[in-house]
Amino acid sequence: DGDSYGVLPRPCRALVLLNPQSGSGRALDDFQAVVQPMLAEAEIATTIFITERPHHAHEKVRDEDLSQWDTLVVMSGDGLLYEVVNGLMERPDWKDTMKKPLCILPGGSGNALAASINYYAGYDHVAKKKLLTNCTFILCKGLHTQMDLVSLSTASGKRFFSFLGFGWGFISDVDIDSEKYRWLGSARFTLGTLQCLAKLRVYQGRLSYLPAGPEQGTSPAPRDPSTPVPNGQAGHAPGSLPTDSLLAPLGQPVPAHWTVVPEEEFVLVYAIYQSHLGTNLLMAPAARLHDGCIHLFYMKAGISRVALLKLFLAMSRGTHLDLNCPHLCYVPVRAFRLEPRVAAGIMTVDGEALACEPVQGQIHGRLCRVVSG
Ligand code: ADP
Ligand code: MG
Repeated sequence: DGDSYGVLPRPCRALVLLNPQSGSGRALDDFQAVVQPMLAEAEIATTIFITERPHHAHEKVRDEDLSQWDTLVVMSGDGLLYEVVNGLMERPDWKDTMKKPLCILPGGSGNALAASINYYAGYDHVAKKKLLTNCTFILCKGLHTQMDLVSLSTASGKRFFSFLGFGWGFISDVDIDSEKYRWLGSARFTLGTLQCLAKLRVYQGRLSYLPAGPEQGTSPAPRDPSTPVPNGQAGHAPGSLPTDSLLAPLGQPVPAHWTVVPEEEFVLVYAIYQSHLGTNLLMAPAARLHDGCIHLFYMKAGISRVALLKLFLAMSRGTHLDLNCPHLCYVPVRAFRLEPRVAAGIMTVDGEALACEPVQGQIHGRLCRVVSG
């Protein structure tokens, strides 16, 4: 892969999309105190765009001419980067625009991609200001590489592009329930986990997946021309979005070579494509930016609260699979489908809430670029 790695030009012009409400509300102060002096030394000139409301960044990157910027930097949590990725994918020229390196600087309470990039770069596990310093240093170096995205589609016809993960059940409930503790910073997830443990629930549904198999390539499997194209996307007209060639339409059964999980009662389902789910949750230690894999975790019902707590504590070091818990299953996949029996429980995409309904997704290898160490 000749164009797999690249380096930002010098001088470099960066558009910084900053959410002043993210995390505990210190993103702008931290940017000016920690980030800007380092970037100035590295000849990276910044223009700050402060978001005023949800969807503001989405509209900005969807509608405006971005050609003057060498990189788009997001100083916030994962939620704002999710807006940026999906805004870019709505552009008619997305194919070219997605070649522009994106960069995440942790300013939010959920900074999973920043923690993952820090981990891929081989740095020690850190949080808060130290994580911000590491990520700023990575931006100063300016190396960028490709990142996989996952295309998610819902029964009601929505389609999203996701860089982090899709969840249902326990962890998603923690993510959304703990929004009210945003002022705690990342400690909101610890408190939220303990609260959700107290009212542990079971979620019913059917989970299916296409195992990753031995070859780790990311090119789509050959498509049977007689099967209809999902999402009504025919052909490859310029600007048309990538086709989900691995998926059957949600109204139809999954393809015959998929695996259907026999159990239909879960505590959680999480499809993650980065190593970290939060700064202190190393859920998929084997994940990399362009490994062509969705790392699918599911926890079957019947697990005790103590066992669940042990797993979460182990996840801070990434050793949860070593516990050999019979309720926790892990399988690398290329595509998955989740069909909840009733519209109960919260679903999340990259930490953002989604109404509960049937969802399926597949990996699209190397669909964007990201600044990484
Ligand atoms: P955090 O990790 O703290 O949740 P995020 O980056 O995920 O930070 O941001 C959370 C949400 O805030 C996003 O969904 C984003 O759309 C929204 N948002 C962006 N700008 C603002 C703003 N000025 N006021 C309120 N919400 C905003
Ligand atoms: Mg968030």
